[in-house]
Amino acid sequence: MTTLSITGGRVLGPDATVTRADVLVDQDTGEIVAIGDDLSGEETLDASNALVTPGFVNGHSHVAMTLLRGHADDKPLDSWLREDIWPVEAELTAEDIRIGAELGVLEMIKSGTTAFSDMYFEVEEIADVVDQAGVRALLGFTAITVGKDDEGARADMEESLEIARKLDGRADGRINTTFQPHSLTTVSEAYLDEFVPKAREAGVPIHFHANETVNEVEPIVDEHGVRPLEYATEKGLLEPEDFIAHGVHVDEREIELLAETDASVIHCPASNMKLASGMAPVQKLLDAGVTVGLGTDGAASNNDLSMLDEARDAAMLGKLAADDATAVTAETVVRMMTQGSADALGLDSGQLEEGAPADLAVIDLESPHLTPRHDLVSHLVYAAAASDVRHTVCDGQVLMRDRDVLTLEESAVLERAQEAAVALVGRADG
Ligand SMILES: [Zn+2]
Repeated sequence: MTTLSITGGRVLGPDATVTRADVLVDQDTGEIVAIGDDLSGEETLDASNALVTPGFVNGHSHVAMTLLRGHADDKPLDSWLREDIWPVEAELTAEDIRIGAELGVLEMIKSGTTAFSDMYFEVEEIADVVDQAGVRALLGFTAITVGKDDEGARADMEESLEIARKLDGRADGRINTTFQPHSLTTVSEAYLDEFVPKAREAGVPIHFHANETVNEVEPIVDEHGVRPLEYATEKGLLEPEDFIAHGVHVDEREIELLAETDASVIHCPASNMKLASGMAPVQKLLDAGVTVGLGTDGAASNNDLSMLDEARDAAMLGKLAADDATAVTAETVVRMMTQGSADALGLDSGQLEEGAPADLAVIDLESPHLTPRHDLVSHLVYAAAASDVRHTVCDGQVLMRDRDVLTLEESAVLERAQEAAVALVGRADG
């Protein structure tokens, strides 16, 4: 057994209690073997004056969109997509997507994220980056059928299925997959009827955007006479292993449906605020028993991939949405960004206990904005920043030690990304 110990820190337990303890990891199995006093391994990570937390699980992202970070801000979703995002995405090469994914995964490791769920294309490039970087991911190809002829639409749906079948279990099992109809308004009914049963046959969970903006709700009600999540249920899209991104505009019946079907919601507060999409009723969802995870969405609508920033946004926006300062507490948000997202994605990670995957982050507490230390759960949500993450471990392997990422070459990734992004926007502008 090759062992790693994380020593001298305070450990955030599954019940949000914080205790002084060391963590011992079996690097061969990638599991935590003990949490307690005086544990030593062959390799050691210093966690003194630090909090050891489960690695954060980013439940919804478009990781390669980092190349579009800051390219177009301050516009509503529809015109932002049509005028700024889609024209640039049309110019993306497989190489661009690899470079964008490297940048995104680098940012995730540096902000304590050890697993993410992604929607994009050229997914094999993203899978290679995940493999090299050492994180976990739930990947998939996003299918859109509207605006395409039958051949093009069918090709998209087939590819989403094919990629899900092909990449599942890659990177020593760190990669799993989902089938991804982009949304209920961008994939036509006939294709859902044909392909959703095929995804079930293949045993692949389904991840799609739903109820993100009001403009997405109305067309479904007009065309099908029911609310979007009623329609999704009719189409077989809300099984327990499935999850939707956003869930902003959901009514009482739709909240009930999510609870009844046991499908999960990934809340993306920063993206919802930036695009003025609305406020998801997070406390209502939680009170109804819905599993809620947290995600950053793409870097173009956030504009960073830090789950610590997302946590603060979730707590703040959750209170505003509920008109209640006691709603969406810090403890609730910590659960959402770890266990909640992990449950939604079907991962075993998300909590620190014996036998759990050794996916964790060590947060440095020695800084002005984290002093004094009354309540570390509060600090994690309301005050900690990505730059406070000292070490990141996934599957028992050290991905970042003392802010030095070991699996990706940071300066080269940054240089490649800057060059590729400038060239990309240049091509799109013609
Ligand atoms: Zn999205």
